[in-house]
Parts: sequence; structure tokens; C-alpha cells
Amino acid sequence: MSTTPQQAERTGPAAASPLEVALEQYDRAADKLGLGGDVREVLRYPKRELIVHFPVQLDDGRTRVFTGFRVQHNITRGPAKGGIRYHPAVDLDEIKALAMWMTWKCAAVKIPFGGAKGGVICDPKELSLREVERLTRRYTTEISLLIGPDSDIPAPDVNTNAQTMAWIMDTYSMHRGYSIPGVVTGKPLAIGGSEGRVDATGRGVVTCIQEAARLKDLDLSTARIAIQGFGNVGEASARLLHQLGCRVVALSDSSGAIYRAEGIDPAAALRYKQETGSLVGTPRTDRIRPDELFETDCDILIPAALEGVLTESNASRVQARIIAEGANGPTTPGADRILEEKGILVIPDILCNAGGVTVSYFEWVQDREEFFWSIEEINTRLRRVMTRAFEDAARVASEHEVDLRLATYMLAVGRVAEATLTRGIYP
Ligand code: NAD
Repeated sequence: MSTTPQQAERTGPAAASPLEVALEQYDRAADKLGLGGDVREVLRYPKRELIVHFPVQLDDGRTRVFTGFRVQHNITRGPAKGGIRYHPAVDLDEIKALAMWMTWKCAAVKIPFGGAKGGVICDPKELSLREVERLTRRYTTEISLLIGPDSDIPAPDVNTNAQTMAWIMDTYSMHRGYSIPGVVTGKPLAIGGSEGRVDATGRGVVTCIQEAARLKDLDLSTARIAIQGFGNVGEASARLLHQLGCRVVALSDSSGAIYRAEGIDPAAALRYKQETGSLVGTPRTDRIRPDELFETDCDILIPAALEGVLTESNASRVQARIIAEGANGPTTPGADRILEEKGILVIPDILCNAGGVTVSYFEWVQDREEFFWSIEEINTRLRRVMTRAFEDAARVASEHEVDLRLATYMLAVGRVAEATLTRGIYP
């Protein structure tokens, strides 16, 4: 099988795969908690891994076979929950890592869900909208063995969005013969989506940044921000931070990176990207190398694209005082050690980007109740959940003299372990 650029980047001599990173992070927390042998072993493994190969008819009449995955890591605390990713670099180990991170994330913010993730190996940029729709509907059919409003609830992730969720909801509902909005979250409002879901992950990132800035005595009204990735998470984070007065000095997407010391207007960058398909060329910005973004002179760095971008080879050159992990798994354990030595506060992914799954939970509750909340109610509740989760993690970090990632893991893994021990091992 040929290797994609992302896979090639990860397979350098010292590069760890997302699954190795996830397991190392878990083991660190299990050690610190003194987690006993049996439960410790149970939580290392996903509960279910489904691999599907399915044909999709292309617009030119040819048929192509795609490979997809759905992994449920843990369902001890509630139904499995996690996004669906369309990307050429998707593989089973990546999905297993992302599913495990979802388990800890839901526990970190005390949402009664377990962890799952799905993905299809494909490059949606090479497919027409109709082809993506057919791929989505067939993939949904294949994974409908697992998904359902009481069992496993997908949501958007890289290269999937509200429209993708609408096709999943429609396909699943067609099979059952009636509408089942609660099978996915991140849907359009017209079919049972929630107010505030589109911005929820970015809004949660910003709440965490506000809490972290307080700890670091950093004035956000003058803070300079660099963001890798300008999709759902990166764009919302940029826009909301800009509204707070921060200066977004560097931005990137898969086409390249841009810089402006005086600050980039995220709305202008978005308009330019929508018109041209790329951020590069946004008026009054300079092009920089994508790897320069991580070394930019800034106060806050937000990786909001893919895993494994902050490694031992670039962590020592990071100048930011706070790293807010909008993406899942952007920092390797080796990089974590360097960043801690440098005194950089890393807000870990399972806390920092948990705003998305939090409002997904609100959406699922609203779908079940068939009663919808106002945007004010959603945002107030989201803020409360994120602030409490951050405060809990910061308290454990200070009590145990550990970094925020280990503290969040100790809380999250501890909660899942407690639930497992309370339920007991069946039969
Ligand atoms: P998205 O598809 O909306 O956006 C991804 C962005 O990353 C795009 O702008 C893309 O161009 C850019 N990108 C891809 N490869 C890049 C590269 N090599 N360099 C720079 N930019 C690159 O995806 P998203 O939903 O924003 O997800 C981004 C990250 O956030 C992922 O790690 C995802 O798992 C995580 N996340 C997403 C959500 C959510 O609600 N969507 C919630 C929690 C975590």
C-alpha cells in the first residue's frame, strides 16, 4: 500500500503513531493512579473494531472500493460517542487512538458517554459532492451494525460536517422507516441539530484559554495567537479570540501558512479561503512555511488540524506560553516533556476540545426530549461544563504536582475505572 504524506511524516525514526501516543498517555495516568492489573488491562483495549470495505459508484460510472472503520473503545459510562473522519491517512490504529481519547474526553467533562471514532480512507477533495454523499450513505449502511441513538452516536470530524451528518441521519432513518435524529449530532438545525454546535469546539477552546490565561497572568486583550488548521475548530477559535481583542498573527490550512504581525482578520481570511480554496494569498498577509507557524513569536499556539505535529524535533523552538490543543493528539509525549521543561502550559486535547462533544451531548438530550434550548442556554451550560472541568484538572495538577495533561487523564481514567469496577466484570 502506498504511504500518504501524513503517514510518511509520522514514520520518521522517532515518530510515534497516534495509538502509541494514546497508550503512553494512558499508562502514565494508570501508573500515577496505581491502577490495578485487571482494570488497567481492560481499558487498554477497544471494545469493538469494525472494518468495512464497500463499493461506491463514481460519477463516470466506474465503481471504487473504499475502506472504512468504526471503533468503540469503551461504553461503560454510556453510549459510544465520536466523530467520523474522511482523510487519505486514516488507518485502524489512528481510529483506535481517537476512540480511546473520546472515552477520556467524555469522562473529563463528566458526560455520560463512552468513546468511539470512525473514518474512511478517502480524499474528499478528489470526489464530487454526489460521490461523497453516496460514499457516506453506503458507509453508514455498513456501520449501522454498530451505530444507533442508544448505542453509538457519530459526529463531524476532519472533512465531515453538518451535511455529512444529515446524510447519515437520513440513511439510518430510511432503514428503520421513521426519523431518528438522535443517531448523530452536529446535524443541521432543520433536522434536530442544536444551536451552538458549529462553534462549540472553538468556544470550548476559548474558555480553556481564558482559564489558562488567568493562571499564566496573560492579558488576552493583547495576546498574539498562531493557529494551525482553519476548519471547524481553527476558524471558530480564531473568530472568537479575535472578538476578544486577541491578535491572530499566523494561520494555516492544508495549502500553506500565512502571517501578519499586526493581526489577520479571520473573517477576511475565511472569505478569501471560500473564494479561492486556500488561505495563502489572503490580502495583506505574508506566506510562511507551514512548520514556521509552530515557532512563531506568539503567546498562544493552537494546533487545530491533525495528530503528531508537535514532536521532539520542533518543541524546543515553540515560543508560545500556552498551547491549546484544538486538535486531537497534536503533541507527542517526547514533545510534552520538552514543553514542560520550558514552562509552557499545555491544555490537553481531552479537555481543550471537549466543547464539541459537550454540545453534542446537549443535542442528543434535546433530540430525545424533542424540546430545544436557546443559544444562550447552550452557551451558558457549555461554559459551566468547560470551566468546571478546567478547574478540576488545575486543582489535581497542583495537588499532585503534575502537568495539566496528566491531571486531566487521572480524573478521566479514574472515572472510567471506577465505573468499570462498580459494574464488575461480566459474567
Ligand atoms: P476540518 O476538516 O473542519 O478542518 C481541518 C483543517 O485542518 C482544515 O482547514 C485543513 O485544511 C487543515 N489541515 C489539514 N492538514 C493540514 C496540515 N498538514 N497543515 C495545516 N493545516 C491542515 O476539521 P475539524 O473538525 O476542525 O478538526 C480539526 C481537529 O480538531 C482534528 O484533530 C479533530 O479530531 C479535532 N476535533 C474536532 C472537533 C469538531 O467538533 N469538529 C471536536 C474535537 C476535536
